[in-house]
Amino acid sequence: MNKIILAKYGELALKGNNKRQFEDKLMSNIRGKLKDLGEYSLSRAQSTIYVEPKSDTFDIDEASERIRKVFGMSAVSVASKVDKLPETKDTLDEIGKIAVECVRKMMLRHKTFKVETRREDKHFPLKSPQISAEIGGYILENIPELTVDVHNPDITVNVEIRGSAYVYTERFAGAGGMPTGTNGKATLLLSGGIDSPVAGYMIAKRGVVVNAVHFYSYPYTSERAKDKVIALAKIMSEYCGRINLYVVPFTDIQLAINKHCPQELLTLIMRRIMMRIAEQIARNTYSHALITGESIGQVASQTMESLVVTDNAVSLPVFRPVIGMDKEEIVQVAKKIGTFETSILPYEDCCTVFVPKHPKTKPQLESLHKAEANLTDIEEMIAKAVEDAEIIKVGE
Ligand code: ATP
Ligand code: MG
Repeated sequence: MNKIILAKYGELALKGNNKRQFEDKLMSNIRGKLKDLGEYSLSRAQSTIYVEPKSDTFDIDEASERIRKVFGMSAVSVASKVDKLPETKDTLDEIGKIAVECVRKMMLRHKTFKVETRREDKHFPLKSPQISAEIGGYILENIPELTVDVHNPDITVNVEIRGSAYVYTERFAGAGGMPTGTNGKATLLLSGGIDSPVAGYMIAKRGVVVNAVHFYSYPYTSERAKDKVIALAKIMSEYCGRINLYVVPFTDIQLAINKHCPQELLTLIMRRIMMRIAEQIARNTYSHALITGESIGQVASQTMESLVVTDNAVSLPVFRPVIGMDKEEIVQVAKKIGTFETSILPYEDCCTVFVPKHPKTKPQLESLHKAEANLTDIEEMIAKAVEDAEIIKVGE
């Protein structure tokens, strides 16, 4: 039996020329995901991308799972392909046979079904409801213990009449969003925590290419903390394709802040310098914006006043997609996208190495400027940190 993947994309947000660009990107992003899976062909028609295996070794279920995660996909199914025959009745019989096989595979758990037909090929002599009735009748004849339930069926047999006919019973939701590469580029400040991978995912979902910057303070943070961040970037890349991860040595700067600045401002000064380094990397890599995982009021460095002074350190726009989300809501997304289990591994982050006992929650910009004036060679330190960043290409 010929198996094929039907990968559907939503069209709602698309207009004119955008649609073409959207489709081309989507196809090339899918190609990127399937590179190592063997031979296949890729084509598209009527808001559906067809992935057809061309060798026996092509793992179609793995391919389907990967495609589901591609941004821009709305639904993905593995279908059986039926070539149309000269006599409509013979075509319907073929579809019926395959539908019976599909239903039999699911029978142990299910007792009711319905057939849903989409007829894209308007030359096909029967209309959708007639096709559904024919195939439904065929299934009932062959599996008499089943009954039809059009409102709440256990099994939905989907029949699509296009260039060929396609039959499938399982339809998986896709990741949604816009294809990566259709909406510019942004640089994510990626810690090992729960929030920043979710923030990166949310922006990437809108078609934005994401770079990531991670600050580490060896030996205060371990090699394993760095591996954890690479693992997080890898999970994100399953959705948004390759991520260039810039790992920035931050120990000297942290020690300097600790030595020369007032305790209560340590975290905020560190955050502002992180933003400045990330901004440099963003500009060097043609990013249009920064992304962080901050959420109002979550910690002292994320009060409204703290966010304002953090923002003030840079001139690129800062996107904070989880700004209004509760921790529990962020955790839910982290679980859905698969980063949660990695995020909760207990390794130190450089933010937690030097934590002031009484951090300022209503900082004044002037007092930060004054404190930062003690860091006389900070410009050179920032430039050096940018230069010394290790670039790790993650995914694909
Ligand atoms: P997360 O869950 O992402 O770690 P958090 O709740 O721990 O966030 P903070 O540690 O205050 O919050 O960090 C706020 C944001 O600053 C993070 O979401 C991330 O964008 C950035 N950030 C913090 N630490 C680092 C780091 N070591 N490297 C890169 N970015 C960082
Ligand atoms: Mg953190």
